[in-house]
Amino acid sequence: MSDNPHLYINVREVAVGTTDEKTVSLSINPEDIEKATLTRPLTGTITLFKDDDGVYAEFDITAHVEEICERCLTPKTFKRELSFERLYTGEPDKKNFAEHELPGTFQIDIFDDIKNELLLTTPLKIVCEEECKGLCEKCGENLNKHPNHKCKIK
Ligand SMILES: [Zn+2]
Ligand SMILES: [Zn+2]
Repeated sequence: MSDNPHLYINVREVAVGTTDEKTVSLSINPEDIEKATLTRPLTGTITLFKDDDGVYAEFDITAHVEEICERCLTPKTFKRELSFERLYTGEPDKKNFAEHELPGTFQIDIFDDIKNELLLTTPLKIVCEEECKGLCEKCGENLNKHPNHKCKIK
C-alpha cells in the first residue's frame, strides 16, 4: 500500500446539480510531494462545473519547484503553472483515459492527479539560464560567476 497523502474535494453539489459551478482553493505543503522540491506551498484553484455526464473540473495550479541546472549544477527555483482538466463521470468509459470515476461518496482524491501532473511537466533539460556557461571541465569553477576563468590545471 502506498502511504501517499490524500487530498479530497467534495463535488456533491455540482454532481447532483444543486449548483452549476463551484471553485475550490487548495494549498499543498512542500513536504507532501516527493520527487519534487517545492520551495513554497503549491496553491491554486479547482473550478467544478456540472456536466451532462458528471462533474468537469478545471485545475489551475502554481508550483515553485527547485531544480538543479544540469550545466552549472546550481539549484534554482522555477515557477510552473499547471493547467489541466478532468471529467469525473458515474460511468467511466475505460477506453477514454480523460474520464475518471465519480465515486458514490462524491469525494474525489485529487492528490495523485496533481502530483503526476507536476512530475509530467518537468522539462527534460533543465538549465538555469539559456546562456548558462556551466562549469570548467577541469576544476569545476562556475563560469557564470567567473566568466574570465583561465584554468591553471593542465
Ligand atoms: Zn546553470
Ligand atoms: Zn578551471
